[in-house]
Amino acid sequence: MDVAIQISTGLPGTPGVDEDALLRKLRAIRQAFPIAAALIGWNPATWPSRAADWLRGQGAEVYLWLPVFSGWDGLAPLIGLDGRPVEQPYRSAAGERFDFGCPANPANVAATLARFDQEFAGQRYDGVFLDKIRFPSFIDGLAPVLTCGCPWCAAHFGVQAQPLDRGDNPLGLVAYRDGRWDVAEARVAQLFAHKAAAVTASVKALADGFRQRGYKVGLDLFAPFLSFFVGQDYAGLLPLADFVKPMLYRVTNAPAGIPFEIDRYAAAFGGSAAEIAARRGRVMQLLGTPVVDLDFVNEEIATAKGVCETCKVYAGFEINRTEVALSTPAYIAENLTGLAGDGVVLSWDVNSTPDENLRAVVVTDNSPP
Ligand SMILES: [Zn+2]
Repeated sequence: MDVAIQISTGLPGTPGVDEDALLRKLRAIRQAFPIAAALIGWNPATWPSRAADWLRGQGAEVYLWLPVFSGWDGLAPLIGLDGRPVEQPYRSAAGERFDFGCPANPANVAATLARFDQEFAGQRYDGVFLDKIRFPSFIDGLAPVLTCGCPWCAAHFGVQAQPLDRGDNPLGLVAYRDGRWDVAEARVAQLFAHKAAAVTASVKALADGFRQRGYKVGLDLFAPFLSFFVGQDYAGLLPLADFVKPMLYRVTNAPAGIPFEIDRYAAAFGGSAAEIAARRGRVMQLLGTPVVDLDFVNEEIATAKGVCETCKVYAGFEINRTEVALSTPAYIAENLTGLAGDGVVLSWDVNSTPDENLRAVVVTDNSPP
């Protein structure tokens, strides 16, 4: 089982990391097991050169962790039903942006490659790890999901998103199988098919662009059952990447956290607390599980492997502890010993991993039986 690690260098404009502290943590992890890859980003001004060089000397592949369709100004906007850019005010406790530009518009792909060439190409990487390659989830309600109506999307897809009925199953979800949702209404199916095709085409163009520059490509993905709602189609995306990291975050109260995203879906259609609870319950019923536990995320990994058996699937789980990531040593041990797949990504920031969590990583024997 491969072990990859994720290292946050902070948001653009923030101070750099303490490289001595980072190296101490990396050495501790390395004593427990080899590090197959390190995913490092996002601040273009503060690349941790010593840590990256040390990792490479230990045999790790170093990927630039790069947010794509969110977190930057100047992207062509995502347009809502009213013909105007949708409001996306959600910010994480740490100030991270989650406002998305249109993931379908090739201008945003070109802008991403240009931004890489201008701001990031000066460092040495083995690959680029693409994050935020999707449409918005339900964190800002329904409007950002009922997109995109920008001129490019209207010309190429012509799908008019529609307001949906309320009730405990407003999208008309019928069944979840093979990483996709069957939905009752053709107009809903068309909307999400458009999103999937758009994101797959954009990621293919990005992957081609980065491979032409000599880099491998990794992808940060929502859990398969959530990926449908944000335009991430595992069957289309997995063959484009050297590895993918499903974010199987069970203790994150922020975007991509699984219970968090289910709650935001349930709340996005409004109604009373009882109606929202009924909506959440209906989804869990359709998923066939009362809770988001290790068994459930392992079924999700099996789903990912099922759409591409030869593709590398590294399960991402949280080892950091912040206001929104509530990981504990027991959670870490359960994931390291119990997760299926080809490997794990110790997410999403080794810098903000407390020592007790780091000890849980180091002492947990994750070698194959
Ligand atoms: Zn668009």
